[in-house]
Amino acid sequence: MANPTHVTVIGAGPGGYPAAFLAADLGMQVTLVDEEKNPGGVCVYRGCIPSKALLHVAKVLDEARHASQFGVEFAAPRVNLDKLRAFKDGVVAKMTGGTGVLTRSRKIRYVQGRATITSPTSVSVALTAGGEERITFDVGILATGSRPATLPNLTISADRVLDSTSALELKSVPKSLLVIGGGYIGLELGSVYAALGTKVSVVEMLPGLLPGADRDLVKILAERIGQICETVMLSTKVAKMADDPSGGVKVNFEHGDGTTSEKVYEKVLVSIGRRPNGQVPGLDTTKVVVDPKGFIQVDAQRRTAEPTLYAIGDVAGEPMLAHKATYEAKIAVEAIAGHKVAYEPRAIPAVVFTDPELAWCGLTEQEAQRDNIPHEVAKFPWGASGRATSIGRTDGLTKILFDPKTERVLGVGIVGAGAGEMIAEGTLAVEMAAVATDLAMTIHAHPTLSETMMESAEGFFGHATHVFRPKRKG
Ligand SMILES: Cc1cc2nc3c(=O)[nH]c(=O)nc-3n(C[C@H](O)[C@H](O)[C@H](O)COP(=O)(O)OP(=O)(O)OC[C@H]3O[C@@H](n4cnc5c(N)ncnc54)[C@H](O)[C@@H]3O)c2cc1C
Repeated sequence: MANPTHVTVIGAGPGGYPAAFLAADLGMQVTLVDEEKNPGGVCVYRGCIPSKALLHVAKVLDEARHASQFGVEFAAPRVNLDKLRAFKDGVVAKMTGGTGVLTRSRKIRYVQGRATITSPTSVSVALTAGGEERITFDVGILATGSRPATLPNLTISADRVLDSTSALELKSVPKSLLVIGGGYIGLELGSVYAALGTKVSVVEMLPGLLPGADRDLVKILAERIGQICETVMLSTKVAKMADDPSGGVKVNFEHGDGTTSEKVYEKVLVSIGRRPNGQVPGLDTTKVVVDPKGFIQVDAQRRTAEPTLYAIGDVAGEPMLAHKATYEAKIAVEAIAGHKVAYEPRAIPAVVFTDPELAWCGLTEQEAQRDNIPHEVAKFPWGASGRATSIGRTDGLTKILFDPKTERVLGVGIVGAGAGEMIAEGTLAVEMAAVATDLAMTIHAHPTLSETMMESAEGFFGHATHVFRPKRKG
């Protein structure tokens, strides 16, 4: 049935455009506002999609370089940077062209410009084409996303410092690059540059890479990162950076053991996290509450403290991931349509698209230990997987956390080739409250990496086919 509500969505990323699309599909009148020519947001223009296009190429390069282990010799691969950039830009253009077509097909009014909130039911848009447009609505959805965090008091030449956006532009392949921050964006982009021939170093303040991810999994990835990078410095702070006369950046480090060091890099990539765009211009004309970190406070329906305004995506809280933004979009729009919904995910998958990939969902072992949650761990090393062995990728581990009493799957972690695709089974298991038997007794195709899920679950009962555990005596 047609719904006469006029919804205006501000921001057309993976939160905003799915919200606009669903609202239109549910019969609402929809206006979508963004500065870009077509919907896509950070994810499609300068995040998930271009980074994965480049990571794909990095994987091809690595595979070509390692093919000799299978008896296949290639000449050293040569990269045509212009063509590579054109490939990546082509992927972005194709995706954003597609969202543009889908927007028009749904008869959504797309307004290109920057929105300022003027009241709880209106915005004024400074149009990219010039001029201003005032839009009034019944309900507004704030999906303004996030931006890269920056280091304070940076006084070095701008062209020597990259953030995720400029790193993806791939203007050149520097001889050396320091990645500041061992999170997923730094490791993904660092892997791309390493594959292209840059000597990459990583510096992380904390004692381990990828804080928040399961340590058993990180250990396997860290080994590989150690091989492709020149140095990985953990428990190390960047104390100072300055322009070096050579044209690079001189960086002073303070190491965890109290020692200091300095080194010159051609470029520095700052990837120390992202900041939510909670300070939407004009928000002070509403009752919307923004927390000190910049996140807009929302309830389970993603409604803000202002009854006519909802907020979704990066601006509405962690984890700042595209699929979480899209999920929230659906919750908010269903709530606007009057349906009984709530944002209550049991598992939000996270994937690091390095090689090997690292993916997890639900509870990690460290979280279970920290919060005293009863749990049992079952692991399956990929060295025992026929598929992993036949593709020369035994550098993997599948790990499942179970509730010892109910046998329910509490969390799943996977490191290995293709872990990002495999985590879907784990997410479904956690979301549907599957028990160990469900995974163990589901027939998994042979030979596939997904069998490692089944065998991990069998491991919970002590009888994984390809792992022998001697019986305890007595
Ligand atoms: C390098 C990189 C790699 C990433 N890889 C992944 C990945 O593999 N998987 C994953 O899940 N996530 C990834 N992310 C994170 C992902 O991009 C974000 O979580 C996602 O884009 C958030 O979506 P969003 O809709 O909340 O906001 P955004 O995508 O940030 O979109 C917000 C939009 O709002 C617009 N906007 C803001 N203010 C206004 C205003 N006042 N008026 C008009 N328009 C406005 C902006 O221009 C922007 O287009 C990555 C991010 C980066 C930087």
